[in-house]
Amino acid sequence: NRQILLVDKPAGKLGPEHFDMRNGTIPQPRDGEALLKVRYISLDAANRAWMHGATYRAAVEANTVMAGGGIAEVISSKSPGLAEGDIVFGDTGWQEYAAVPAKHLSKMPKIEPMTYLLSVYGIAGLTAYFGLLDVGKPKVGETVVVSAAAGSVGSIVGQIARIKGCKVVGIAGGKDKCHWLTSELGFDAAVDYKDGAVFKALKAAAPNGIDVYFDNVGGDIFEACLAQMNNNGRIACCGAISQYDGAPSATGPRGVPGLIVVKRLTVQGFIVMDYMERRNEALRDLQSWVASGALKVQEDIISGLENTPQALIGLLAGENRGKRMVKV
Ligand code: NDP
Repeated sequence: NRQILLVDKPAGKLGPEHFDMRNGTIPQPRDGEALLKVRYISLDAANRAWMHGATYRAAVEANTVMAGGGIAEVISSKSPGLAEGDIVFGDTGWQEYAAVPAKHLSKMPKIEPMTYLLSVYGIAGLTAYFGLLDVGKPKVGETVVVSAAAGSVGSIVGQIARIKGCKVVGIAGGKDKCHWLTSELGFDAAVDYKDGAVFKALKAAAPNGIDVYFDNVGGDIFEACLAQMNNNGRIACCGAISQYDGAPSATGPRGVPGLIVVKRLTVQGFIVMDYMERRNEALRDLQSWVASGALKVQEDIISGLENTPQALIGLLAGENRGKRMVKV
């Protein structure tokens, strides 16, 4: 049972030296548990945030198998709800085999490709769907801006906003990603934040101001969007990846709370887990958009458990396009 341990919690940037690989034993499932063979591990910006301390989940600790979501096959079960051959989603950790309490696993439908259970029909798709529609509440004709727009959540947010009849602007790192957003995913405009002058480029891309900002990054980009929000706009706070990898910036975004007051903004954070009871509602829409071709699914699949640390380091550096995962 090859396992990747977090051997040291990073104070600055995450590097390969913070991980180690070992050969452990294949666990025996106890009553109420299932033994899983992990098929795909989800790489998430949040994996890095968990190293800072407790969030919506407990912090990950040094010298333990690195935590992480995954899609797995049940090999044997000591729980009446699960049987050999079932496909489940849960916190499998970065390893080949895991014994996990069935109450912490979600049984998944058997679909092809299985990877869609981590991308469009997984956390990424549900986060985009509920964060945009329930928190952002976009109306036809409004301008929606999304950051980390070429990533797993962002690329779906922008496409849903377009489907809902909004004008869509993506913020992403690099010319190639920006070109991909407008030429392949139907974004109306894209801003390359690595090209500098985000405020000015955003003004040109969204000349009527911003009605909904879906924030994946926080920091300076949040500040640039905040200043360009229209009255009664909505900011859906999904995450703050610019603050995850290393020390947080010395200054916070300016204009808080002043601009929030003056512009009568609604700024709302959300966690996708709180929407799980409404999962089927989202899946119905996502499935029909994928079937009609209105929603394109972009996945970035890396092979080999041993490459998982580098896959996370690369995600934080913006290597990925769409949903990054590791095929174990
Ligand atoms: P992504 O697939 O979006 O990958 C992360 C992307 O972030 C990178 O590709 C990179 O693209 C961009 N990025 C990295 N550093 C910076 C920076 N300093 N400034 C701007 N952009 C940066 O990852 P996830 O889908 O895992 O996560 C996206 C966001 O969604 C995160 O904030 C995450 O925490 C959040 N999330 C929240 C959930 C919730 O329930 N609230 C659930 C799931 C995710 P680029 O090349 O453009 O820099």
